[in-house]
Amino acid sequence: MVQTCGIFLLTNGGVHIMTSLFSIVEGWGKSVGLFDVSPEEQALSVERMNICAACPEAKESKILLMLNGGVHDVKALYCGLCKCPVNEKSLAVKESCPIGKWEK
Ligand code: SF4
Repeated sequence: MVQTCGIFLLTNGGVHIMTSLFSIVEGWGKSVGLFDVSPEEQALSVERMNICAACPEAKESKILLMLNGGVHDVKALYCGLCKCPVNEKSLAVKESCPIGKWEK
């Protein structure tokens, strides 16, 4: 079963429905600076993103790449399984990897 985490995200050729409104608001809110990110949450996010960056399920999104100013880094990646943007997913504290590579 594919786990989903939160939003309608246009990725490379598809609209993916994600289901956790809280994770959307939390992840994107922290990503754009609407909500504070504690040092512990920042460290957790970096740890999660490092795992995702090395994961074969991580895919680059043209839209995230555009939002990221064309910079090819982990912020332009989304998870190919749950379709969540990796950066925003990593900032949502209660999120987890759909195949258990990282936990809540
Ligand atoms: S959430 Fe898990 S499966 Fe998805 S890209 Fe990250 S490590 Fe890979």
